[in-house]
Amino acid sequence: MDAPRKVVDVIDPMPVIEGAGVRLRRSIATSRLDYADPFLLFDHFGSDDPSDYLAGFPMHPHRGIETVTYMLGGRVAHKDSLGNAGTVGPGDVQWMTAGSGIMHEEMPQAGEERLDGFQVWVNLPAKLKMTRPRYQDVRSASIPVVSREDGVRIRVIAGEADGVPGAVTEIFAEPTYLDLSLPAGRSFEQPVPRGHTAIAYVFEGEAALGAAAGAGGTLIAATRLVVFGDGDVVRIETAGAPARLLLLSARPLGEPVARYGPFVMNTREEIQQALRELAEGTFVKR
Ligand code: FE
Repeated sequence: MDAPRKVVDVIDPMPVIEGAGVRLRRSIATSRLDYADPFLLFDHFGSDDPSDYLAGFPMHPHRGIETVTYMLGGRVAHKDSLGNAGTVGPGDVQWMTAGSGIMHEEMPQAGEERLDGFQVWVNLPAKLKMTRPRYQDVRSASIPVVSREDGVRIRVIAGEADGVPGAVTEIFAEPTYLDLSLPAGRSFEQPVPRGHTAIAYVFEGEAALGAAAGAGGTLIAATRLVVFGDGDVVRIETAGAPARLLLLSARPLGEPVARYGPFVMNTREEIQQALRELAEGTFVKR
């Protein structure tokens, strides 16, 4: 029988100010949870007040990681040293492999709609930290949606659900990234390979994670991040209320981590080198 993964940690997002003064809620990359290998950072930006985000993230570097932006509402304008420029809008995903180095800016735009979205950082293994930068821009309409008969709806950003492959492919960590909507009184089960790290972020309503509430499951109300222990499947059940959540999993790297702001390498020396190259103007390789 498939062993359900139990909830082993529950994180209340921490308010932080990032970039040039953007207020957001951070669940990974804090003193509470520094790293859920290979997930280095989990940020939720959401506000009705443009003064919380208009300062944005002016031109800044990244090296050694992938940054994944998923928007629910509002728009973020971006441009980078690869020559990409555009906006990430509602339902869109930007999967950016910084590799050897990229410079980019991410500027949330004021609009009618509330700004709401997520950024996750996925670590790269030592052998790919200096890989060629790569950029995948996935429009909302190209993200497969699985609509089950019971009303459960799954946007498959990466990985696979019900045999439907996600929009983002060829990522080293073999990630699963699902946006799940469950009506009240439903259940959902997703296989996750043993040994992979699995996390969920409940951002609307509430759900029992790990199993049914009272049967070993943990009732989680929005807005919280949970970390699952090992097992074969993630189980999610709603009772009286619907829920919407992100479910992410990926293969851990098990490598040493040296992190400093937007650079995540394996050693302090590699961080020093990134800073030196930035100062000398040799940071971006291609
Ligand atoms: Fe960035």
